[in-house]
Amino acid sequence: MLVTKLKPLDEIFSLVQKKTVLICCEGCRDVHSPDDRAIATLRGLLFSRTDLSFVVTSYVCYREHLELLIQNNASIIDDADVILVLSCGAGVQTIADFVSCPVYSICDTISLPGYQGLTPSEFNCIGCESCHLNKTASICPVTSCVKGLVNGACGGAKNGMCEVDVSIECGWVRIFERVESRK
Ligand code: SF4
Ligand code: SF4
Repeated sequence: MLVTKLKPLDEIFSLVQKKTVLICCEGCRDVHSPDDRAIATLRGLLFSRTDLSFVVTSYVCYREHLELLIQNNASIIDDADVILVLSCGAGVQTIADFVSCPVYSICDTISLPGYQGLTPSEFNCIGCESCHLNKTASICPVTSCVKGLVNGACGGAKNGMCEVDVSIECGWVRIFERVESRK
């Protein structure tokens, strides 16, 4: 369970491209924010700016479910210039693992005390409240870099492994590799 808030609308509009798919996750529904009215407003505003396809689902962080969702919506997802995701940071990172186009978060995930379940642990979102995924190819730098660097690599990686712990892949090398693979 992770709770989100919408990013500013100007920032969201700057992310839309000609063919935009908006995936809205309704999992964790009892605590999820923004609420229905915000989603409806956003949907209306985006429709006026882009060729928008809208997919409402739940638990995009659940890989098997997401794989089916992507298969069932292949005609629009394969054709998309960009996918915007209304979910927590864990959901955004899961979707980005399955598709080749850019995937952007339109939410910031809020910090919550206590244990938030297995999924956020697996996808390493700690709810930093200012999501960086849109600048890092949807790989969280806060948790994938051992030093938590959000503005680039420290330069110490060797053969793709972290200088602090050689058993861990350098998060920034992973980010650079994904950026390169999308060019
Ligand atoms: S940058 Fe990482 S920790 Fe921060 S909200 Fe995004 S996914 Fe979560
Ligand atoms: S080697 Fe990579 S993961 Fe390790 S601290 Fe430096 S930038 Fe972060």
